[in-house]
Amino acid sequence: MTFQYARKATHKVYRYDRLEGITGSDDVSNETWLFACPHDDDIAIGGGLWMKAACEAGVDVHLLAATDGRMGYCSLDEQGTIAQTRAAELVESCKRLGLTDESKIHLLGFPDCNLSRYLGRRPAEQGEPEFAGYTGLQNAFVQQLRSIKPHRLFMPSPMDYHPDHQIVHNEMQISLFHAAGEIWPELGDPTEVPAVYELAIYCDFPDPPNLQLKCTEDQFQAKLDAIACYKSQKQIDMLVQKVKDAGPVEYLREVNFKFYSATAYLHLFED
Ligand SMILES: [Zn+2]
Repeated sequence: MTFQYARKATHKVYRYDRLEGITGSDDVSNETWLFACPHDDDIAIGGGLWMKAACEAGVDVHLLAATDGRMGYCSLDEQGTIAQTRAAELVESCKRLGLTDESKIHLLGFPDCNLSRYLGRRPAEQGEPEFAGYTGLQNAFVQQLRSIKPHRLFMPSPMDYHPDHQIVHNEMQISLFHAAGEIWPELGDPTEVPAVYELAIYCDFPDPPNLQLKCTEDQFQAKLDAIACYKSQKQIDMLVQKVKDAGPVEYLREVNFKFYSATAYLHLFED
């Protein structure tokens, strides 16, 4: 058995043994997928199996981590070095999941636990993460979306407990809109809006997921090995135990990402 996929529809569950089946893609090896998160360890915990499956299927996989993890120290003598430690742990973890090309790991360097200062976009001050003279999550996300041009985007759900997760979700949503338009031309040419999927990391999905992945114990062990690379992150032990208890299964929630049209509500007011 390799990866097995299931799609929950209203009255039926459809099962597939290939990513093409579950995604509706003609050939996923022609696609680019972006896993976007605030912290280095989020994707391994919430979507490591989906990422591993994508890498094995030949997808051009990228990972974007918005923060530098500077607040993730569990002993006082790590305070000055934790960001570098976590960056190295991320590279090792990604290897376990099949992402071996470090140029596809994008560390944006925003301050961990302090993303609210970086909502939107503004001229960068000395020492702030910047691109084209500007800082802010929308500046960075639009530049990354136009550069990577993902067909599919995976990110934490908007309800996840950690505020950094909520902020990445919210800022990414408007960045998808900006990246597809003509605004801020110094950040690259407009790009298509990708298919969007939510991951659950700290808490349940706000609405039930509709896509499931199951795999072998060996493949699941690769995910556990990927999480174990984050030796510095002792505070996630409770999450890791939950992952172990759940076994070789992960979920996604497909997001019907579209822009507002008043036609959506016409039928509510018909006689
Ligand atoms: Zn996180």
